Amino acid sequence: MPEPFTLTEATGRLGPIAGDGAPEVLPPCPSVPPAEGIALPQAIAAMHRILAQAQTPAAINGALQQLGLAIAADRVYLFRNHPHPVTEAPLASLRAEWCRRGTRSQLQNLELQNLDYHSTMAQWYERLASGEGLVNGLALGGLVQLGGRRPLRSRLISPILLEDGLWGFLGFDWYGEGGVCTPHSQDLLAIAASALGLAMTCQRTAARLESLQQRFEGELQQRTVKLQAAIAQLQREMADRRQAQSELRHSALHDRLTGLPNRTYWMELMGDMIALANGALPQSPTPGPSPGPSIARPAPQTAAPKSAQESDPVQSFAVLFVDIDRFQVVNDSLGHDLGDELLVAVAHRLRRCLGESDVLARLGGDEFAILLPQARDRQGAERVVQAIDHCLREPIALAGQEIYTSVSIGIALGPGDYCQEPERLLRDADLSMRQARKLGRSHHTISDRAEHDQLLAAMRLETDLRKAVSTLNAWNFGRADYVSQPEDSQFYLCYQPIVDITQHRICAFEALIRWQHPVLGLISPGRFIPIAEETDAIASLGLWTLYRACQQLRQWQDQLHAIHPNLPPLQMSVNLSCRQFARLDLLDSIERVIETTAIDPSALKLEITESTIVGNADLAKSTLQTLQNMGIQLCLDDFGTGYSSLSYLHQLPLDTIKIDRAFIEALDRGPKNQDIVKAILTLADTLRLSVIAEGVETPEQLQTLRQMGCTYIQGYLFSKPVRAEAALQLLRSEYPMRSDLRAIAPPAP
Ligand code: C2E
Ligand code: CA
Ligand code: CA
Repeated sequence: MPEPFTLTEATGRLGPIAGDGAPEVLPPCPSVPPAEGIALPQAIAAMHRILAQAQTPAAINGALQQLGLAIAADRVYLFRNHPHPVTEAPLASLRAEWCRRGTRSQLQNLELQNLDYHSTMAQWYERLASGEGLVNGLALGGLVQLGGRRPLRSRLISPILLEDGLWGFLGFDWYGEGGVCTPHSQDLLAIAASALGLAMTCQRTAARLESLQQRFEGELQQRTVKLQAAIAQLQREMADRRQAQSELRHSALHDRLTGLPNRTYWMELMGDMIALANGALPQSPTPGPSPGPSIARPAPQTAAPKSAQESDPVQSFAVLFVDIDRFQVVNDSLGHDLGDELLVAVAHRLRRCLGESDVLARLGGDEFAILLPQARDRQGAERVVQAIDHCLREPIALAGQEIYTSVSIGIALGPGDYCQEPERLLRDADLSMRQARKLGRSHHTISDRAEHDQLLAAMRLETDLRKAVSTLNAWNFGRADYVSQPEDSQFYLCYQPIVDITQHRICAFEALIRWQHPVLGLISPGRFIPIAEETDAIASLGLWTLYRACQQLRQWQDQLHAIHPNLPPLQMSVNLSCRQFARLDLLDSIERVIETTAIDPSALKLEITESTIVGNADLAKSTLQTLQNMGIQLCLDDFGTGYSSLSYLHQLPLDTIKIDRAFIEALDRGPKNQDIVKAILTLADTLRLSVIAEGVETPEQLQTLRQMGCTYIQGYLFSKPVRAEAALQLLRSEYPMRSDLRAIAPPAP
């Protein structure tokens, strides 16, 4: 029989035991104050109230204290079961404890953690699991000996049974032999034990919940921070992208060098202006591109909407096409960096002459365009042109030098009849500018339709010529097929014989270029050579002509030599244009042609005109000298048409002069004209120059020239310029000269 507890006699006033260390102070128990000596049922009720309020460790301690004081125990403790992590055998660990003052706490005692039921507390498990408590007398293994000098005994162990079995147990210790418990008290304590177990479970669940919550909140916070960072990053990226897009748009519509609107911008603007003038846009247009920093948008026009009956288009604005004169020269001589600086400086000057609403754009190269939205007529535009002229009179300082520059300006008035085509407006302004330059004026406005058509045709021809010449460029000079006529080449050479009337034979040919335009047909060199000279296409064209003529000469020389080995070799005259003559690579090119075609240089005669020499006689002289030193023959073409021939004729290293057709034509018109030709022949004789009479068409002219002692004749009388095959025929069949022509005048005795 178990010894009964005498609960009411429990002595809760045991003081601290000497040598057992400092008395422990329990954390304060929530709301229900501990009561020494109260009856067990009240203590259990108090314990319930405590646990109802909270399941914190402090509350659990308070509950243990209520029980301990009620049954005058020295220590009340709670073990919780848990499975071995590997074997899953049931283990028990001390989890909570109340100790009377002076009793040493065992919470830090590691021996009371992970107690194995089977090895340490044999048979306990089954008894406790079946709901039976363990009372006084049962050996408690290590538990029994707790308590230092005074043995502390566990007198009562109450199982804690929850729904899923044995949760743990509640134990009560007394010093020495103290502690009596009635079966009723044991039952009450068993109930209390279960309540405690439940509270502990709740506490654990709550703690877990709280930690879960904390973790969740932590994660949430982390995610929020990450999300905020991502949003901030996104916003930055979007701002960057917007910035990049606007920069891209800006650079797509603006010129890098000057910061001015570019051609694309200009075209959009023109489209808007035309639409606006036609009433297709609202009065406050927001035409495509946004304005750049250096320009101002045109103020909205208040042009009256056009009625359907109106036949005259509304002229509501002006467009200027501005081109810097001789910019290429500055660029070539001062270098591209200074050329760029000049462009920027000119852009600033132009801007200075313009109003707020005027737009200045750089179309490319040295070309600018200006929109004058307020200039309703020619006079309005001309005022701006005069301001520009005036503004550019001041020199521009570039790298320590003062540069004087001027511009050519074309004016077009819009929208005119350009209703559908903004490009036409600019093109007409461009045409006007070219015309201004040609006429040596600062500006020009196209005055009528005929002029417009004429200028346009010239411009188209120029474009076509550039294109046709570019096919020549595609070949590599010196390549075998360079001289063979390509299928798509629009150029070919004709050859006109030059006859030695004393020897009755063709002594030379003049090579004359022809352009077979795919639409316009054959175009005379008199028309396209000047255009080629303006555009610099003459360099390729001239080189090709020279190469092809020399190659042809070589071929004919070989063929003739086979028939008439004793005759002096055939010669070839090739025209050299003014611009070609001024090129630095002229001498190199000629040398290469002679080398590649393997002709004797003395068989080549280069024809230059007086215009080539006028202006830079010294340079011309030294170039001619070099050519003569190379063994090449030199001929002054169109002699007599220039105005200062005589003054320098004797200084130039020439071999031949060619009397212009005009003098030959005039031979039939009286003795005065004959005297001029005679004088030329005498002059040439004095200077030891040979003479060719050009444009001889009639037997009478031939007769006169022969009587004057002129040896070399070129003209339709003998032959027009002909293709190579026909020229070869001439060489073969009329070699020596046609008998009827030979009979015109007897050879000189
Ligand atoms: P040019 O050098 O004075 O050439 C002579 C021009 O007079 C040729 O005209 C020729 O066909 C023409 N002609 C010859 N005999 C007579 C005649 O009896 N009566 C008439 N009415 N005309 C005659 P084309 O071929 O039309 O050439 C005109 C000009 O074009 C040439 O004048 C020359 O300045 C230039 N040209 C022709 N081919 C070339 C070339 O390959 N290079 C360069 N730079 N200029 C060339
Ligand atoms: Ca000629
Ligand atoms: Ca000529």
